[in-house]
Amino acid sequence: MNLENQLKKILDKKIKDASNEELYIATLKLCKELSNKKPTNSKDEKKLYYISAEFLIGKLLSNNLINLGIYKELKEILEKNNKNIVEIEEIENEPSLGNGGLGRLAACFLDSIATLGLNGDGIGLNYHFGLFKQTFKNNKQTEEKNDWISSDSWLNKTETSFKVDFKNLSVTSKLYDIDVIGYNNNVNKLHLFDIESVDEKLVKKGISFNQTDIKKGLTLFLYPDDSTKEGQLLRIYQQYFMVSSGAQLIIKEEKEKGHDLRNLDKHVAIQINDTHPTMVIPELIRLLSLEGIEMKEAIRIVTNTCAYTNHTILSEALEKWPYEYLNEVVPQLMPIIEALDAIVNVKYPNKELAIIDENKRVHMARIDMHFSHSINGVAALHTEILKNEELKPFYEIYPEKFNNKTNGITFRRWLMHANYELSDWLDSMIGDSWKKNAFDLEKLLYFYNDEGALNAIEQIKLNNKVKLANYIKEHENIDIDPNSVFLIQIKRLHEYKRQQMNALYVIHKYLDIKSGNIPQRPITCIFGAKAAPAYTMAKNIIHLLLCLQDLIKNDPIVSKHLKLVMVTNYNVTYAEKLIPACDISEQISLASKEASGTGNMKFMLNGAVTLGTEDGANVEIHQLVGDDNIFIFGQSSDEIIEHYNKHDYISRHYYEKDEIKKLVDFIVSDDVSKYGDINLLNDLRNELINKDWFMTLLDLQDYINTKEYALKVYEDRERWKRMALVNIAKAGYFSSDRTIAEYNHDIWKLPVKN
Ligand SMILES: *Cc1c(COP(=O)(O)O)cnc(C)c1O
Repeated sequence: MNLENQLKKILDKKIKDASNEELYIATLKLCKELSNKKPTNSKDEKKLYYISAEFLIGKLLSNNLINLGIYKELKEILEKNNKNIVEIEEIENEPSLGNGGLGRLAACFLDSIATLGLNGDGIGLNYHFGLFKQTFKNNKQTEEKNDWISSDSWLNKTETSFKVDFKNLSVTSKLYDIDVIGYNNNVNKLHLFDIESVDEKLVKKGISFNQTDIKKGLTLFLYPDDSTKEGQLLRIYQQYFMVSSGAQLIIKEEKEKGHDLRNLDKHVAIQINDTHPTMVIPELIRLLSLEGIEMKEAIRIVTNTCAYTNHTILSEALEKWPYEYLNEVVPQLMPIIEALDAIVNVKYPNKELAIIDENKRVHMARIDMHFSHSINGVAALHTEILKNEELKPFYEIYPEKFNNKTNGITFRRWLMHANYELSDWLDSMIGDSWKKNAFDLEKLLYFYNDEGALNAIEQIKLNNKVKLANYIKEHENIDIDPNSVFLIQIKRLHEYKRQQMNALYVIHKYLDIKSGNIPQRPITCIFGAKAAPAYTMAKNIIHLLLCLQDLIKNDPIVSKHLKLVMVTNYNVTYAEKLIPACDISEQISLASKEASGTGNMKFMLNGAVTLGTEDGANVEIHQLVGDDNIFIFGQSSDEIIEHYNKHDYISRHYYEKDEIKKLVDFIVSDDVSKYGDINLLNDLRNELINKDWFMTLLDLQDYINTKEYALKVYEDRERWKRMALVNIAKAGYFSSDRTIAEYNHDIWKLPVKN
């Protein structure tokens, strides 16, 4: 049956008579039917389980259609019937099963694993209300639940269910699966566990709920507030629930295949994405022991099965749970954690290596490092910092375990879907081999001096800017000019990412325009970011941005030359609109602090030029495009690390310098504070002057100068178009297909087909 008839059959009516909602549900069902007919991997193959607290998968409809190879055909069928696929895509709710880069990485990886034909599933949790939905009230962030699960969704309920025991209660886990469809390849699964007894009614207002009601509340939210003991206990409940369900699933599948659990490491690879799934190590040891395997042997098997990915050098983000808290939730794991700690203590008396420290806190990352066979960082610089600074004592005892896997992104979502115009144009210029071999994008360099090609790149960018301007008008009710230059900073809000530094640039530009220096071309600064609900300073930065947005909007002179837009509820869907429209990609983290970044890669692939510090994967972008096609500023990671070691950065010294003082003080001026809360703005200013842990003021002047230079270069249109071309051409390295091939070659060792 052809596609049109298949769709009609599901719809049970004519396409032209169906509503967009009906068409969305019908295409969703169509995808599920087609995906069911796809081959799955052979049972005997070694299998990977990628365990992660987050999977920021984004909407799935168009991606699945692309990967099934029917996007274009379906789009035409719909057009023929006066239907617009973009409007149908709008119907889908975006699941917010992730927070930022780490969760998005996990989603890109699942796409690449399936696309490369590897046998690998994801394991995570089915959070009913996700992270949260962001709204703005009185220029402040407010949080609401993201009610994303509707009766027709990509979730497929399965018969699989496990009992998970805690100290004082037991719960039943229910498994839901989402198909992960490889691009022209087979289908894997994302396994999401939920509790059977979940009760959405527990949430009354906003995102607050009784955190002690585990039976009803365990899977309601990703990262519930952990500023209290109850919150921390809830996170431990969640983590154990995830890994115990996952470990039981792995053992069940192994038994069904008739595999001997003593050979688990021959048949199974487990990738632990950051420390949240760490308890899978003691849990698997416990379960293997219950199967009659001696503890020592179980530890050896589990160590050979598991591999750990580190995502951060921020010490506050490396989880350390009080021993007593773990004991209150999962006492059955404590003898195993004690035994692991004892093994380490006998071998390595160094306190820095101990799993349980002197304050009786359990260092989760240390469990991972001692009892897995691979430890990887996520960009070259990050891995070097892990080896030489943050994890040095571990590198000294386990040099062979350390390896780098520079992050990547799936080009299916971030080019073929988000920027189909550029994608189609690339096909017409260099063929479509880049879809399977991303390095083939380099063929574009052949057109470095081709006026037609350069103009096409510029035109596609302009078209995307027009589309974004319309979208922002509709969603934020703000007018932006597609002929202005678009500078975009979109990422979680964190002081180390330094949105506050960008805000100080906006203040600089505002005052500059006020004093009569009119920029050659209008400037549009776009921000998107969620702040963790309990992270006060991050919320203060959002507050400043929103106040500045109002200040500029209401200034009839300045607003002709400068705009600030803070988009609401930044998520994958928004990223897909923002990134193809960007001219200058803001990647301005404090050097050494951004492990990799993946937003930087998405922007580059879509022809934006990076303005950034020599940090994370920016370093590798810089190497690939060369000095002429990127704008680098700020102190190096070595210099920053030295400042921390010597404690010699004193922000006040920088503040005292004229222009900087003026910019920082403007935060609490009447001009700004009339749009907001002077107390919050004061807190932010004081933080910058007296603490500034992430050294905003250190790089501020260099940032301003470099940004002014970038804006000048932008006016050399011939040069800029070439810069965009080089960025696209050199982005192939950042395909997550490359990253996954490396994980597999070095760590998982799954059989590779075709
Ligand atoms: C890619 C992505 C991120 C990560 O951005 P960074 O700039 O690397 O921090 C965060 N959120 C969303 C929605 C993304 O798509």
